[in-house]
Amino acid sequence: MAEETKVARSSAKTRLRRRLRFMRTRARELKMIGKALVSTKHPILVHIIPMRQCNLACTYCNEFDDFSKPVPLEEMKKRLDALAEMGTSIITISGGEPLMHPDLDDVIRHMRRRGMIAGLITNGFYLNKERIERLNEAGLEHLQISIDNVVPDEVSKKSLKTLDGRLVMLSQYAVFQVNINSVLGSGVKDPEDALKIAHRAVELGFTSTVGIIHDNNGQLKPLGPHEQEIFEEVMALGKRSFSRFNDFQHNVARGREHNWRCRSGSRYLYICEDGLVHWCSQQRGYPGIPLAQYTPEMRHREYSTKKFCAPQCTVSCVQQVGILDNWRDPQNLQPMPMTPPATPPAELVQIGQVRGDS
Ligand code: SF4
Ligand code: SF4
Repeated sequence: MAEETKVARSSAKTRLRRRLRFMRTRARELKMIGKALVSTKHPILVHIIPMRQCNLACTYCNEFDDFSKPVPLEEMKKRLDALAEMGTSIITISGGEPLMHPDLDDVIRHMRRRGMIAGLITNGFYLNKERIERLNEAGLEHLQISIDNVVPDEVSKKSLKTLDGRLVMLSQYAVFQVNINSVLGSGVKDPEDALKIAHRAVELGFTSTVGIIHDNNGQLKPLGPHEQEIFEEVMALGKRSFSRFNDFQHNVARGREHNWRCRSGSRYLYICEDGLVHWCSQQRGYPGIPLAQYTPEMRHREYSTKKFCAPQCTVSCVQQVGILDNWRDPQNLQPMPMTPPATPPAELVQIGQVRGDS
């Protein structure tokens, strides 16, 4: 692939701005860790969906549609204000495809204005020089693109071939941190792709992570020996990422159950496009309470609620948040009985069969 060998150099001004933003974000992340260790009363990480619609249709994904409208900016601001009042440290915008939202820059600006670390997960297809510079100006701090294969296929168009030009632009113009996530496991045709994607990420100056897909009705299924070798290699390449502190992915790769305390609904929140709070993207439907009505008591209750899906969980961001509390406060409560909603809830999605992380 001709583009794969291209490594564009950013200007001295961009490199300086990138360095400064990195140092500021790292300082804020350290402060976030300190605050999380001192108090358990606030959310550490929130995923929020401003737009369920996506321009792609990856066949494994259960997190998009092709018709829904963007959440209006004023409503997004209200939700962000509610999260700021709770003391939230980091917000990651996800989708659908968030770059389709017409006011995304203002959403990011509002997050920064309210003191929260701003991240974005995108499929990258709408990125160009002008869009990247707008994200720089808005104050974005982290961006993640998940790349599924080297060459597009019937399952996913998110390939190195289709995205490499955009990655080169990011390496030239972005002043925020970029992480490239590759995938291994069930449904991935060629495990070597993950390694090629990770090498390309590092070559362009980005961090790299690897996600593991499982099917088999949510049961953990070990990677094969060759896939495990690739997994370890990609993890070693991604050594600049915080994920290296987390041994959970090594357990997932080996198909082992993981002993941890999932604090979703409390330290981690998933806010859907309807403004409802859910445990996570893979357990949507519970608690299903509007964010504006989600009280501190409800959050604190979820902190102590044992999650039936925790031993086989493959959701790495919630696992990483969990590290900060795994050592304290055992969970001994059961989920609250649910009141049937006026409108049918989103399908409760079981982990392991599906994935939709852009
Ligand atoms: S799937 Fe994982 S992150 Fe989601 S609620 Fe269950 S244990 Fe928590
Ligand atoms: S995985 Fe991401 S890019 Fe693919 S359909 Fe789902 S939301 Fe869209």
